Amino acid sequence: MGKMSKIEDGDKKRCCPECGSINLVINYAKAEIYCADCGMVIAENIVDLGPEWRAFDSEQKSKRARTGASMTYRIHDKGLSTPTAVNKIPGLHLPRAWQVHTTNAKERTFIFALTEIDRMASAFRLPMNIREAASMLYRKAMKKRLINGRSVESITSALLYISCRQYNVPRTLEEITKVSKVGQKEISRVYRYFLREMNLKVAPASPVDFVPRFCSLLNLGSEIRSKAEEIAKKAKEAELTNGRGPIGIAAAAIYIAAMISGKHCTQNEVSDVAGVSVATIGARYKELSEELVIEELNIFL
Ligand SMILES: [Zn+2]
Repeated sequence: MGKMSKIEDGDKKRCCPECGSINLVINYAKAEIYCADCGMVIAENIVDLGPEWRAFDSEQKSKRARTGASMTYRIHDKGLSTPTAVNKIPGLHLPRAWQVHTTNAKERTFIFALTEIDRMASAFRLPMNIREAASMLYRKAMKKRLINGRSVESITSALLYISCRQYNVPRTLEEITKVSKVGQKEISRVYRYFLREMNLKVAPASPVDFVPRFCSLLNLGSEIRSKAEEIAKKAKEAELTNGRGPIGIAAAAIYIAAMISGKHCTQNEVSDVAGVSVATIGARYKELSEELVIEELNIFL
């Protein structure tokens, strides 16, 4: 492993544009900066922490505002004419409704994109509206000619990641990478590209948004889940989330909730599900348990 160093938090502006964490790491061997909390590759090909980094930082920040989305736009075959059997496209297994005829490579690519979105969304059991949102983003990207030179797999992964965030059912970058056919760095790259080029607004994910899914993956019941949600909310109110990635906060809240509910759940187990390191969970646990008034926790300290 090459030389790595933590970026010191003397300069408060240096935080992850994605999750707000100040836990950033420079990997000198790869000349890149990534966020240790959410895994986002923030800058690549850095020579030093010069203008590129600052430009990126302020540009991303200015684009962060809450957004909502509601859309139903999925039908790919508008305005099609000359029939070509879509069934002949290798590797395509289309839902019956899509078994239509298409005209050109562009349409075939779009159908492949929809198939990819569906495949990943099914793996996540995502509702239809999120698949539709991702499909519509893809269509928009096509119209803006933003998809050339990038693989369909990387584009659909990035767009699904965006849609999940916009609908407040965020998936971690690591989760997206697990079901995607491309790597995390490539998804990070395409994700940043689309935010910029399509001027998309993606609000920072809230720790609470991650709690239900992590709890269900850990087989923790509703009692622990609501307790963890309560702790995550308290942490936000107390501003303990500033400069901290939401995933680590969610993980620590779950760890605490499980502990006070008498169900033993190790930091390792939570780490496996959340995809943040045990060290991060430990650090967040320390902060939350020290700063928040959690009555039930007292008997453990
Ligand atoms: Zn981050």
